[in-house]
Amino acid sequence: MRLDKFLADMEFGSRKEVKQVIKKGRVKVNGVVCKSDKTQVNEHLDQISVDDEAVIYQSQFYYILHKPQGVISATVDNFDETVVDLLDDEVFREDLFPVGRLDKDTEGLLILTNDGALAHRLLSPKKHVEKAYYAKVAGQMVPKDIEAFKTGLMIDQNELCLPAELTILSYDPILDESEIELILHEGKFHQVKRMVQAVGKEVTYLKRIRMGKLVLPSDLALGEYRELTTEELELLS
Ligand code: URA
Repeated sequence: MRLDKFLADMEFGSRKEVKQVIKKGRVKVNGVVCKSDKTQVNEHLDQISVDDEAVIYQSQFYYILHKPQGVISATVDNFDETVVDLLDDEVFREDLFPVGRLDKDTEGLLILTNDGALAHRLLSPKKHVEKAYYAKVAGQMVPKDIEAFKTGLMIDQNELCLPAELTILSYDPILDESEIELILHEGKFHQVKRMVQAVGKEVTYLKRIRMGKLVLPSDLALGEYRELTTEELELLS
């Protein structure tokens, strides 16, 4: 690829800005100053540096975010902060997007990437990738609900859910509040809330704790994000 494209892809600025960086002699290819933006480079073999700092080529980016409440799972929104707004300037790229949606008031595991194929693999209804949630529910979840979720619940009269695994973790009779874990094999709009509603109760707090084999790391605080490790990425493949 062209040297200016390489540097623009690596977020050294717009195509116009990197042409200036190159013209000023700040860029070396294999140790030799290169002032031509049209120079063809091999992004995997050539050693490219800016101000003598090596630039390692990376075309796909993967982050895990512990989404807090109050932010929207989108790239732009006219009113609210979005999950990409949470990224620092050095990390932000125009092509990053969240893999799937969590509601504004849902917390938990969200992947941000520019890898459309990975997003497709994780979200495609045909792939049935598991998503696990922890929820607090107003009301008492009962064994009959476990059966109903296992059989395949009908929500909003005409949407049939795939069988889902419900675990009742606790019930507090004073608060009249249940804690549950729910494993889904699909991702319908507001699915957890609507399934719980279908058995006559209401979700008051929701957090996604796992996607496929990738568990939300316990040391990733609310609102924090980091790059996925190679091992974590393998868990998603
Ligand atoms: N189910 C919901 O109801 N909301 C979410 O954000 C995710 C799953």
